Amino acid sequence: SPIFALNDVGVSYGKNTALAGVDLTVHPGERVAIIGPSGAGKSTLIGVLNGTVAATSGEVTALGCDYRRAPAREIRRSQHRIGTIHQRFDLVEQLRTVHNVNAGRLGSWPFWKAALSLLLPRDVQRVRAALDRVGIGDKLHHRTGDLSGGEQQRVAIARVLVQDPVMILADEPVASIDPARGREIMSLLLELSAEAGVTLLACLHDVEMALGSFERVVGLRAGQIAFDKKRADLTDDE
Ligand code: ADP
Ligand code: ADP
Repeated sequence: SPIFALNDVGVSYGKNTALAGVDLTVHPGERVAIIGPSGAGKSTLIGVLNGTVAATSGEVTALGCDYRRAPAREIRRSQHRIGTIHQRFDLVEQLRTVHNVNAGRLGSWPFWKAALSLLLPRDVQRVRAALDRVGIGDKLHHRTGDLSGGEQQRVAIARVLVQDPVMILADEPVASIDPARGREIMSLLLELSAEAGVTLLACLHDVEMALGSFERVVGLRAGQIAFDKKRADLTDDE
């Protein structure tokens, strides 16, 4: 069964339509790139899946949960297994990396609480293991804001890993990082998802990167799906 299915989904912000009539089904382990110009609705689509944006119409089912009908607690539990990576990292710069990563385990808690939370030895072990997987195991006690952009995005990925995710949503994950480091981050995300069989959905405006790395590419334009294709079937004009 699908990891998520959007059925005729629409999202409006007042009279501003961000998504309209979107049908999209993704199966466990798939790696999908969403491409489209700024304002196409990519961030909104990610918000609908992780629960930060409510669909105005249509059906959203993810990780076996119907977002309109399932009990709130069940939806929260499912959404905790969905990890989101943001363009601007969304980390608390004043905190040490260990606290930012541990915040993934705390779920919807405000991040400032993470700074005050008690770190048990097993939490630190878990954080250290996650930082090792993203290649910065030595940065456990660094102030997050002192790290480079690429390193901060690695911290954000580690924060998602401690959530033990079944799906990772990445919203322009490399748009704020220099190109060489960005390609490394993209490879890391693809590797981690392949290794763990985690579904990966990444919004990208870099078409080359999408076509080079993802087996399925979905084009979004003005809130609607313009195409949804396996890489091999894509033509140049798309
Ligand atoms: P993308 O990620 O592809 O740039 P977005 O999902 O951010 O697209 O935005 C889609 C459309 O919805 C745009 O027209 C944008 O201006 C609008 N939009 C996004 N968020 C809001 C909001 N909070 N309030 C009003 N309009 C919004
Ligand atoms: P992106 O294009 O990377 O999605 P944006 O710069 O479009 O990011 O949006 C940044 C933030 O502003 C988001 O939280 C989005 O919801 C909000 N936003 C975008 N467009 C509008 C809008 N027209 N009115 C109000 N908020 C908006």
